[in-house]
Amino acid sequence: MLNKVSIDDIQVKGKRVLCRCDFNVPLIDGKITDENRLVASLPTINKLIGDGAKVILCSHLGKPKGEPKPELSLAPVAVRLSELLNKEVIFAADPEVVGPNAKAAVEAMNDGDVVLLENTRYRAEETKNGEAFSKELASLCDIYVNDAFGTAHRAHCSSCGVASYVETAAVGYLMQKEIDFLGNAVNNPKRPFAAILGGAKVSSKIAVIENLLDKVDILIVGGGMAYTFMKAQGKAVGDSLLEADYCDYCLKMIEKAEKKGVKLLLPVDNIIADAFSNDANTKICLKGEDIPEGWMGLDIGPASEKLFADALKDAKTVVWNGPMGAFEMPSFASGTVAVAKALADIDAITIIGGGDSAAAVNQLGYGDKMTHISTGGGASLEFLEGKELPGVAACTDK
Ligand code: AMP
Repeated sequence: MLNKVSIDDIQVKGKRVLCRCDFNVPLIDGKITDENRLVASLPTINKLIGDGAKVILCSHLGKPKGEPKPELSLAPVAVRLSELLNKEVIFAADPEVVGPNAKAAVEAMNDGDVVLLENTRYRAEETKNGEAFSKELASLCDIYVNDAFGTAHRAHCSSCGVASYVETAAVGYLMQKEIDFLGNAVNNPKRPFAAILGGAKVSSKIAVIENLLDKVDILIVGGGMAYTFMKAQGKAVGDSLLEADYCDYCLKMIEKAEKKGVKLLLPVDNIIADAFSNDANTKICLKGEDIPEGWMGLDIGPASEKLFADALKDAKTVVWNGPMGAFEMPSFASGTVAVAKALADIDAITIIGGGDSAAAVNQLGYGDKMTHISTGGGASLEFLEGKELPGVAACTDK
């Protein structure tokens, strides 16, 4: 369990509460195309409103790189949030984020009112965790609540620095739920415990592989990163994604798995293509065959799908991060679908790391079959690496 003060532990009636949310939603021509993150933050916001706080919301959106960029304004989020909360969300349009408009808006608040500040990354200090901007944010509030799991791995002013200048920094419901699910899965799993890792590169998941090998019973590796493992074992991988510098590392991990008694599974067959394109010529590279030059592995093959699904049948906890192939192209989505289906069919706690795996599971229609889909890609990955998240560490201990 997370040992931090939560919003259930604090009295907020009449207090100004600055709540850091993750409203970093995709926008096309000012329209929100996926509002999952807004919906995920409603329980905390509603709790604060219900308890009579003056609710001041803040978030970043995209990468304006320290400058006001109208196309990255949070104005459309204020409009949609008003509809979702069934309550006016006053937007403090302020290029300085905490400037005269924001201060006036907060000054005029009654209990239960909601104000949304402008994109925190309009300020260059935000991503440098600068003291001045952290203090400005703190000056607006009595209490700080961090509910932005998606940025909890970043030590930024609004996700971390501000906590040093308030009396109480609490975690919100979403943050608590994320940490409880991921923490329980990794540190207190029902066994057998399986992890599935995929995605493009070994180099971006080194620390995760290393940390999980100490904890899991089964480790399944698919996606582009599997080809570096295969190359390390002396197999020809043609033009597949390869990080030659990491072959030694992969061999060490294979040895580590053996020593620890972890069942490490790699693809035994692959869907190979003559170009990185949905319309490329494709064929199955069968078990034991080399991937020829001019061809690249873009998905796991049917025998691997079966191997992985069989290995997952008896698992009681599964953590999945990274697709099994270049799933954005329908020709190479089959392996990722097969794993999603295998997880949907088993009686286990199934946790999906954010980012691409979450997108894949939702896009393929298996979202509601999973126990928990994380809202944070980078944050869930760092959590799986066993790292402390600065945004959580900064909150007040119980
Ligand atoms: P990551 O962010 O490391 O989880 O990587 C996700 C990306 O890996 C997705 O965009 C996939 O298209 C890509 N990917 C997965 N498998 C392969 C593969 N075999 N070859 C090339 N790209 C892949």
